[in-house]
Amino acid sequence: MNTTFGSCACKNIEYCFTGAPINSAYCYCTQCQLYTNSDKWYGLWVPQENFSFTKGQTKTFIRKGDSGMDMCHHFCDNCGVNLAVKVEIGGFFSVAANTVTKGEVPAPNMLIYTKNAARWAHFPSGVPKFDILPAEMMGE
Ligand SMILES: [Zn+2]
Ligand SMILES: [Zn+2]
Repeated sequence: MNTTFGSCACKNIEYCFTGAPINSAYCYCTQCQLYTNSDKWYGLWVPQENFSFTKGQTKTFIRKGDSGMDMCHHFCDNCGVNLAVKVEIGGFFSVAANTVTKGEVPAPNMLIYTKNAARWAHFPSGVPKFDILPAEMMGE
């Protein structure tokens, strides 16, 4: 099985995950805009059991998602880079694709929370676009 590696900017924190992500999504929600200082977060969705931090100790910030369940942000308290968000309702980590240092990064396969997108946001063409989430992911 393939292993993908990643780290923050200062390399204090490292992680790895095995196997292919179950989803790869650009998220345009208001929170993701704040964490990235851009129009979107590019998240690789990795089942919790396949993901682990291998070096250093992340700082965490927990907020409630739309579902009312926790979204636990893991970031480096030295360089400030956000590495991954543990999404409790889905049992997965949304790994910041731009922190991958070794391994395949797939192309995004959906654009989510586009109803919250900044006026100046950029949407790649040919990728399915959802106001919030695809119907099958709603109301879980
Ligand atoms: Zn760092
Ligand atoms: Zn988001």
